[in-house]
Amino acid sequence: MEQNTAVMVRIGELWLKSEPVKKQFMLALTRNIKAALDTQEIPHTLEEYRGRILIYGDAERIAPVVSRIFGIVDVSICETTTNRPEDMAQTALKFAEKKLKSGMRFAVRARRQHVSGFTSQQLAGMIADVIWEKIPDFVVDLDDPEYEIFVEAREYGGIVYDERITGQGGLPLGTAGRAVVLLSAGIDSPVAAWLMMKRGVVMSAVFMDGGRWAGPATRSLAMDNARILSTWCPGRGLPLWIVNLEPFFDAMTASCDQHYTCLFCKRFMMRVAEGVAELNKMEAVVSGENLGQVASQTLQNMGVITASIKLPILRPLLTYDKEETIAISRKIGTYHESPGNTGCLAVPKKPATRSAQELIESEEHKLDMDKLIQEAVLSAKLWIAKDGEIFQKILNE
Ligand code: ATP
Ligand code: MG
Repeated sequence: MEQNTAVMVRIGELWLKSEPVKKQFMLALTRNIKAALDTQEIPHTLEEYRGRILIYGDAERIAPVVSRIFGIVDVSICETTTNRPEDMAQTALKFAEKKLKSGMRFAVRARRQHVSGFTSQQLAGMIADVIWEKIPDFVVDLDDPEYEIFVEAREYGGIVYDERITGQGGLPLGTAGRAVVLLSAGIDSPVAAWLMMKRGVVMSAVFMDGGRWAGPATRSLAMDNARILSTWCPGRGLPLWIVNLEPFFDAMTASCDQHYTCLFCKRFMMRVAEGVAELNKMEAVVSGENLGQVASQTLQNMGVITASIKLPILRPLLTYDKEETIAISRKIGTYHESPGNTGCLAVPKKPATRSAQELIESEEHKLDMDKLIQEAVLSAKLWIAKDGEIFQKILNE
């Protein structure tokens, strides 16, 4: 009997799309899978069928890499065989022999597509019978089984597996445009960036380096966040623009009402991010802002921040509880147990929770804002985070 180990990839939402969009998404997905495996130097061949991708090679190495690719619901290490029930049953039996014991609650989940001669139920029954002969006295329990075997009869062959590794879901990276995230040393913004990547958006990042105004751990933590995020877009790289925030801070703290420092700062960050986005053809600015988290994130203050730029500001974490954000942050690897000093020296004792737009604008008029923005954007240093490393890219003058 012909039998081969493969990694089977299941895709979710793609099947809601029209044929041409589906094609384009599948192309992006397979490209991302190949890039991830090539980055790890894992030899593989890939076959694509309606709704399924089969990857041949070292399945134990391939499965965990592929389960990190966006747009995939789950991944299984499976055996492929012919679509003859006898062959599928023998293969299923091999799985069962390793894990099924008499008395266990057991289910066979069978599916059939474009194969005639039997129904899914008949197929499940045939397979259960063959297993029963070798491992009798299991208890069929379709609602709450302790052990399940999945069998799919397709026109191109049979697929048998007993485990599903949960993927990330979302959409293939590269299918939803480009955006820039304001990436800090904190917990929120890397999670916000990851959530955008998960929905298919190619991300770049801007970190505003407060220099002597910021805690000493800030810069290296932000760079580390970019580095870790880059492991989620293997082979592609994540540009990180590091902007010197000192000139703005010096000017702003010398001239403007410090009650509103955090608002001036956030509005300035947005403007710089917008400048970088415009130069690099990106469609939105993403932040880790979260409703009610700090004074600058009241609904009213976020409105004033929103009004600072024309590009859309996306806030994927707007309604998340901190615990939910931390859970994602731990999962994606950006959670730092002991981050060190990342405090900002410019934060006033009692930052404003409500700020009138007109007042903020009239304070900002005390500064040469256009010049400060332009200088900040043009003096930004470009770093590239790629496959878990980060290096500076020297641009031609
Ligand atoms: P985070 O929210 O990422 O945990 P934080 O709590 O230090 O960082 P906040 O004061 O909550 O920052 O800022 C709100 C958002 O502003 C951040 O989520 C991030 O998108 C952006 N931001 C803050 N500081 C910086 C910075 N130094 N460089 C770039 N973006 C920043
Ligand atoms: Mg925050």
